[in-house]
Amino acid sequence: AKHEGRNRFHYFAPYMQEATRVRMELIGELRETVARNELRILFQPIVDLQTGKICKAEALVRWEHPERGLLNPAEFISIAESSGMIVEIGDWVFQQTARELQRLRQAGHQDFQIGVNKSAWQFRENGSNYQSWLELLRELEVPAENIIIEVTENLLLDSTYQVAQRLAAFQQAHMQISLDDFGTGYCSVAFLKRFNVDYIKLDRTLITDISHERSGHALWEAIIVMAHKLDIKVIAEGIETPEQLAILQQAGCDLGQGYLFSRPISGTELEEKLKNG
Ligand code: C2E
Ligand code: CA
Ligand code: CA
Ligand code: CA
Repeated sequence: AKHEGRNRFHYFAPYMQEATRVRMELIGELRETVARNELRILFQPIVDLQTGKICKAEALVRWEHPERGLLNPAEFISIAESSGMIVEIGDWVFQQTARELQRLRQAGHQDFQIGVNKSAWQFRENGSNYQSWLELLRELEVPAENIIIEVTENLLLDSTYQVAQRLAAFQQAHMQISLDDFGTGYCSVAFLKRFNVDYIKLDRTLITDISHERSGHALWEAIIVMAHKLDIKVIAEGIETPEQLAILQQAGCDLGQGYLFSRPISGTELEEKLKNG
């Protein structure tokens, strides 16, 4: 096996060797991120498209790497998943989110909700961290209703990690469920009903097309109508222009998120924004 591994090495182009080396380094360093306090959490505001008010946010993780600078999830989440570190990172993100919700509630924002992303790998673990999440919420006196679990369409199609049972447990605890990246994969209406989701998030790629391509509108316009029939609220991701906003408002889209409103910001900045209306 050793011999085979060495031979395979020759097929890598030089840039692949570099990419592999960086990946191996990051895997090692990732184990220390929580202990070394290198993770950061940002919150991107989600706006009610009727009132224009910020009513929710999404928690987005960053890695403040001592040499490489601030890393986006695209640069380390897949490594975190394949190395199992995603479980510890997910716990950390949840803890930070719960603490932020506690601060916001103390400032009078009782109904404010924050969404946390959960990937398929985080469903591999048994329910142990889920129990500790509930305990933390009780301790901080944050109702589970204030938490939205964001999962992707593809996760619902994945039968390996008992996703359905685990999602049901979150729902029984009164957390809400949001279907992320909607419109990019395959997800039938039957799934929406079966999993009883509270929100769907229209993927940014659908929103980007809005201003250019009229024919593309049919898809997300139909999604909004269907969602409302099923009592599901729709969040549009990646709104960048006033034109996109106007079209989405007209189509009855409930909520929006994107650089037009705000980039992901720190908890302190979020609290400031909410204070100033
Ligand atoms: P996502 O869940 O689809 O999150 C939305 C992404 O779109 C975020 O990227 C956000 O910064 C970006 N975004 C928001 N508005 C705009 C806009 O107007 N224009 C553009 N161009 N981009 C916008 P980010 O923070 O880099 O996160 C990327 C992905 O990483 C997320 O996609 C999510 O799948 C994953 N992720 C982030 N945090 C976590 C986490 O704590 N756990 C897990 N498992 N995954 C995470
Ligand atoms: Ca998300
Ligand atoms: Ca997305
Ligand atoms: Ca995503």
